[in-house]
Amino acid sequence: MDYPLENSFVLPAGTGKAVRLKAGQRLKLTNPHGTQAIDFWAFVERDLYEFTSMDNFRSFHSTVHVTKETALVSTRRRPLVSIIEDTSSGKHDTLLCACNADIYRQLGVEGYHRSCSDNLHEGLAELGIALPFTPAPANFFMCVAVRADGSLDRLLPASKPGSYLVLQAEDDVVMAFSCCPQDITPINGEDRTPRDCRIDIFSTVGGGA
Ligand SMILES: [Zn+2]
Repeated sequence: MDYPLENSFVLPAGTGKAVRLKAGQRLKLTNPHGTQAIDFWAFVERDLYEFTSMDNFRSFHSTVHVTKETALVSTRRRPLVSIIEDTSSGKHDTLLCACNADIYRQLGVEGYHRSCSDNLHEGLAELGIALPFTPAPANFFMCVAVRADGSLDRLLPASKPGSYLVLQAEDDVVMAFSCCPQDITPINGEDRTPRDCRIDIFSTVGGGA
């Protein structure tokens, strides 16, 4: 990266975090183990009803695949987050909802289980933001294939350890990340073990390091 590093942290397995980025600022999301699905959202803080929209993404680009050519567009169909680099398998899901308390209850969990939905709202709350709904996430590193008959196939993770994405904010945004705590299905690997990820935030050119 040609940009000075502003902040780095490890996002522990099963937890979430939200961070503010300025337009043009870049963030590197690393999957140290290659197996961890990361649910992702970005919001325009001055209008929380403008956020990365998976239905607008699929309509705008006529694809379900997130690539360097297909920026994540907003509910107002503006590019909000661009993919600058991607060393992963290139498989990122745009179809499935964030895991939530109801999913875990239906999977037979009794009592509380962490979820990507709760991680989103906890991360936003740390920034003083309350959101009364949970948008569909971009599920980075999560492999979901559409079969010819239209049904979905949840596949095992396919990225190598250390794979990363570099994201660029195309407006001042709040980006939210959740290390998916799913440990009942094998979406985070055959051993059903959620793992951590690493986030490096870079300053914009000319910004303070
Ligand atoms: Zn999840």
